[in-house]
Amino acid sequence: MTRRLVVVGGDAGGMSAAAQARRRASADELEVVAFERGNYTSYSACGIPYFVGGSVKDIDALIARSPEEHRANGIDVRLETEVVAIDVEARTVTARGRASVAETVEPFDDLVIATGSTPVRPNLPGIHARGIHGVQHLGDGIDLQADLVAIGDGPERCVVVGGGYVGLELAEALHDRGRAVTIVEAAAQPMDTLDPDMGALVADAIRGLGIELITGTRVEAFDVDTDGRVAAVVAGHRTIACNLVVLGLGVAPSVQLARDGGVRIGPSGGIATDARMATSVAGVWAVGDCVETHHRVSNRPVTIALGTHANKQGKVAGINITGGDARFGGVIGTAVTKICAHEVARTGLNEREAVDAGFDIATATIESTTRAGYFPGATAVTVKVVADATNGRLLGAQIVGREGAAKRIDVLATAIWNEMTVEAIQQLDLGYAPPFSPVWDPVLVAARKAAAEPTE
Ligand SMILES: Cc1cc2nc3c(=O)[nH]c(=O)nc-3n(C[C@H](O)[C@H](O)[C@H](O)COP(=O)(O)OP(=O)(O)OC[C@H]3O[C@@H](n4cnc5c(N)ncnc54)[C@H](O)[C@@H]3O)c2cc1C
Repeated sequence: MTRRLVVVGGDAGGMSAAAQARRRASADELEVVAFERGNYTSYSACGIPYFVGGSVKDIDALIARSPEEHRANGIDVRLETEVVAIDVEARTVTARGRASVAETVEPFDDLVIATGSTPVRPNLPGIHARGIHGVQHLGDGIDLQADLVAIGDGPERCVVVGGGYVGLELAEALHDRGRAVTIVEAAAQPMDTLDPDMGALVADAIRGLGIELITGTRVEAFDVDTDGRVAAVVAGHRTIACNLVVLGLGVAPSVQLARDGGVRIGPSGGIATDARMATSVAGVWAVGDCVETHHRVSNRPVTIALGTHANKQGKVAGINITGGDARFGGVIGTAVTKICAHEVARTGLNEREAVDAGFDIATATIESTTRAGYFPGATAVTVKVVADATNGRLLGAQIVGREGAAKRIDVLATAIWNEMTVEAIQQLDLGYAPPFSPVWDPVLVAARKAAAEPTE
């Protein structure tokens, strides 16, 4: 008998699960239906800042696999259709087309919940004004880009609310388009997933670009003009005149549908799953931004919204739904970003997180260069490592620098994943030639310092 897999959410997590299941089971064995309330499937939200900034010209370039391509592969994609309820007893979902109030009840044998996350949008005066943009899905990027074109070039300022990686990337995009840009951040430093000393380097880099950075300040309201368009951001004692605002205030897992359906939500706020991506309800799976996952260093459940996790988790669910036995290995919080020429990376736990997790920590920070010091193009890079003071195990690392800096984090992420000590890391046989690194790569120098002087 043909089984039926229903997928809710047509982006990274959901379509990875659908595609994997489709690949592993014939149409006679498995029917695969994916519901997506938007108009796109398998798109790269990660690429939106570069489309807005103009370095990616064509929005279609951000679509890894279109609905037509999925359909050609045997997945029944239903666009503009929202799943509004899950009945785990009846094993059905209720779906509603955007254009109609009519609902259909769709049976499933297996269900994948891949509803992603919801951007934080505080209920401040003026928040609904035209010109205030959240950036989450492809349509948001298209709307933002169209609005920028519509308001035309001019001296008016754009304000980015939030100095996390999405805020920074959108600030770069607006800066690249020649706009005056202000970033307003409530924390003392931008990128608060870094330690304050590393965040301070990012703050210096932002200001060095001519982007105004206001820290330690909360946005309180938006002034709106007579046409209903945003005219200013009110933050602390400042009223910052502007004609466009981008919100980058973080996201929360979208779990309402799952919760209402009786699927267990974990302590960190995401859908609880095991390593096979199975939820508390048999035959119901969850993947991507909407789930909580295991942090391999803190040993705690966390929700970290990244496309890398969504893709891997989707693949794991797709394999398990079709009779395989795959496991998602957890996360260690590795992330990279950039603002113009400045690169930022982190992995594992920062100082605060490591102390919260109960570690007795030692840290080491070093300055080096991305290439041999004499080689043209060598630029400064700062590497900070956080280690367990009792045994030297690497717990976390952060890097701030220029071209060639950020992806060095992958060496340290691999070391953390494999529970290496700083003593062992300094021995790693990494590649060296003057165009690529000094003879002692900056990550080796940081590990060496941590091993030699475990406390600062
Ligand atoms: C600007 C930006 C830059 C980013 N950059 C990076 C990066 O550089 N690296 C990285 O790893 N990650 C990055 N991310 C995060 C990454 O895009 C997400 O982690 C990833 O898209 C999560 O995939 P997902 O499938 O879980 O959720 P989503 O991509 O959010 O997809 C969920 C889908 O489900 C649909 N949906 C939700 N509810 C329903 C429903 N009830 N019925 C039908 N459809 C529904 C939504 O319309 C959506 O299309 C970035 C995100 C943004 C916004």
